[in-house]
This record gives sequence, C-alpha cells and structure tokens, in this order.
Amino acid sequence: MIRITKSQPAPAPLTTRGTRHLSKLQATQAADPAACQVPGNKLLESRDGIYNDSQVKARLLSDQHRKCCYCESRPTSVSYGDVEHFRPKGGYQQVRGGLLHKPGYYWLAYSWDNLYFACHLCNQEFKGNYFPLRNPAGRAKCHTDSLAQEQPLLPDPSTEDPARYLTFRQDAIMPRRASRRGQACIEAFGLDRPELISRRIEHLKRLMHARIIGGLDLSLPLNAMATQFLQEARLSLDEGRMLVADARRIWLEAALDTAEFAGMVRANFPHLPTV
Ligand SMILES: [Zn+2]
Repeated sequence: MIRITKSQPAPAPLTTRGTRHLSKLQATQAADPAACQVPGNKLLESRDGIYNDSQVKARLLSDQHRKCCYCESRPTSVSYGDVEHFRPKGGYQQVRGGLLHKPGYYWLAYSWDNLYFACHLCNQEFKGNYFPLRNPAGRAKCHTDSLAQEQPLLPDPSTEDPARYLTFRQDAIMPRRASRRGQACIEAFGLDRPELISRRIEHLKRLMHARIIGGLDLSLPLNAMATQFLQEARLSLDEGRMLVADARRIWLEAALDTAEFAGMVRANFPHLPTV
C-alpha cells in the first residue's frame, strides 16, 4: 500500500446520477430507520451502474496507475479488478467473518473519497465487508452521523500514508513497530498470501537483475567484463547500451508511485527516488 492522490473533481456519474440516487437512499432511511437495520434487508441497495460506471473506473485506474490500492499488484487480463468501497456500502463486519451489520455506509456509495480500484483477491476474497473500528461504539450508522468520531483500524490510503504502519524485509510484509493497524491491514487484505509473496519475490529478482545490468560500464574502450557480456549475450555495442539504459531506468523508477509494489521497494531501498 502507498498513499493515493485522487484527481478532482469527482467523475460526473457520481455527482449527477449518484447525487440523485443518494437523496432516495437518505429518504428511505429517514422514513423507517428500524427496517433498514433488519438483517438481510435490501432497502438501501446502491446502484452498481453508477459507482461502477466506466468513467469512474477509468479515473480510478489512472489515479492509481492501474494498481490495486491494497496489494499494489496490476491485475492482469485473467484477473479483473473492482471498484471498491473503503467503507462498505451494504453492511459492515466489525469482526472478520462475523455478523454482517446493516445498514452499511449507504451514504458513501457514490462518494468519490470512498472509492478505490482493488484487485479481485484483496477486495472480494479478503476484505469484503470487513471494516473494524478501534472504537466500535463511535461508528457512524446513518447519513446524519459524523465520520469524524470513527477510529478505523484500516488506514485510508488517500488520507494517511500506509507506510506509517507497514514495512517490508525483502518480500516479507510486516507491521511497522508492531503496529496494530499494520497487522490489521495484512490480515484484512491478505497481504501475506502465498501467491502475492511469490509475485513480490519475482519482482525483487527482476529489480536485482536490472541493478546489475544497469551497473555495466559500456564506455569505450570496453573493459573485460563488458566485452564478455556483449559476446555472451550476442549483442552489438548499441544493443548493449540500450539494454543498460533500460535497466537503469527500471531501477531508478522502481519506487515511484507508478511502479508495481512501490511500497515494498521503498522499504527495501530507501535511497531510490519516490518522485
Ligand atoms: Zn490487491
């Protein structure tokens, strides 16, 4: 996880159709709050055609550099991502796998601040409706309650820097200074799942290869190592220089917001530029 900057203003479908439907949701809740709390009720269901509109998803993808807001993977052609509600819209769980409390944060269903792009695994297989608070008694339960009193365990990546709570030792993710919020992130989003660790290991290996190749000196006269490299790789001098330049670029851009797994790279190589 890294900090995310949302572009402004909010995408039009949220401020037009979303605002209109939000008025209906608020009126429904105000008319019969008790009915809206009955388990399984669908009175405050939001419209996925609004928050899932292609304009909304395209903007999230652009703002997040096509990476999942939680694991920083780039979903591939075989694994699509979702528009994710940070505060769950339909119902919430204070305990993972526990009771689903109704209603959820229905009034944030079309709130730009509450939306992110997340991979299928982080969103659906792990986080789901889990949204624990350090102070459950302070939870906002309808649109007239204040969010300011809530103390979420999961940091919101557009208002807090997740690096305050999470760090890495090589591919292994861990809470920074035994942070409870860091541990909550790892568990909630499955940030230590085996397939994700494998991808981070491969990413670090590719970066190490880029660092080594980028360190080659192909200036004339060629030294023995450079001569051997070009011969064994069957490259011309120009081809070798392009490869070295590309490897240096990969290394120097590895901690930028645009890079996959930038949070892991920053923790391991804090001297690399981040902007
Ligand atoms: Zn993810």
